[in-house]
Amino acid sequence: MKVTEHLKQAAGKTLFSVEILPPLKGKSIQSIYDILDPIMEFKPSFVDVTYHREEYVYKKRENGLLEKFSMRKRPGTVGICAAIINHYKVDTVPHIICGGFSREETENALIDLNFLGIDNALLLRGDAIKSEAAFEPHPFGHLYALDLVSQVVNMNKGIYLDEELRDVAPSNFCIGVAGYPEKHFEAPNLKSDLKFLKAKIDAGAEYIVTQMFFDNKKYFEFVEKCKEAGINVPIIPGLKPLTGSKQCTSLPKIFHVDIPEDLEEAISQCKSEKDVKQVGMEWCINQSKELMKAGAPCLHYYTMGNAENTIRIAKELF
Ligand code: FAD
Repeated sequence: MKVTEHLKQAAGKTLFSVEILPPLKGKSIQSIYDILDPIMEFKPSFVDVTYHREEYVYKKRENGLLEKFSMRKRPGTVGICAAIINHYKVDTVPHIICGGFSREETENALIDLNFLGIDNALLLRGDAIKSEAAFEPHPFGHLYALDLVSQVVNMNKGIYLDEELRDVAPSNFCIGVAGYPEKHFEAPNLKSDLKFLKAKIDAGAEYIVTQMFFDNKKYFEFVEKCKEAGINVPIIPGLKPLTGSKQCTSLPKIFHVDIPEDLEEAISQCKSEKDVKQVGMEWCINQSKELMKAGAPCLHYYTMGNAENTIRIAKELF
């Protein structure tokens, strides 16, 4: 079932969803079930599975020289989505990214999803890899998530890349896109970012999932600004319970988000990492309660390979 159908059926009740990463190459599907088994008790409406592009790794050869390899360390998004549906009978949302993929590779991944009966996709640009100063598209790929949205909208109309194909079956994807309450780090300002967010919605995206934020005020202001900009689709807040003291600096660095003074202060006073986890969880529970009270359509938790706190939060709220 589509994310938008879940939201419609909920009739104002706040839904619960989670996002997981594919395991590192070589690990079994059991590592995914180990994360999801305890979460399923709380009946998430859907499970997002992230998509990962290639990275460059260097291996030392016998002659002492380093050889450069291109490798996808976390493949398997499509297969994991199918396995989750099969195992738990819960809907999945595979992420699809522009970075590292040609339009044809994307089309083929979408065909796989379509054959598997998966009718959701969260469409993203992806980030630059370490060797790039800024995001560079695949030579036959897309530069912006907007272009990916247009490709999927076309497939939904039965327009594939090869325009000469005849008697084609249209796909039926429900399209989600990303939004940034604290603005995307490359955008010159929030107004510009919202202009391009609106372009993704106007092109056919049906809902937005936000980047994580730790101050609800930022989400509420973002929702208001989206409305003012003419964006009227559901905006699902993305939440991440802070689980370690180092995240006070790593999350701002990686995700370009602020840690509120009060949270940082509380963490700096913790005597152990166990205490940090407790503070992070309580902060996220308070954020979640306020968002639920304000009528957020769904609370989407980033597990980032560690679902322990998400489970404790779900126990409290769902
Ligand atoms: P876009 O919408 O393309 O925007 C990128 C930047 O370009 C923004 O600054 C925007 O303002 C600007 N822009 C957009 N369109 C135009 C235009 N036409 N002209 C000029 N400027 C423009 N990454 C992964 O690799 N895998 C994942 O699974 C993944 N999942 C994510 C899930 C969520 C909910 C979020 C919030 C992020 C996720 N990311 C993921 C990270 C994401 O790929 C990065 O944040 C990326 O830098 C931007 O992606 P986007 O889809 O928002 O890009």
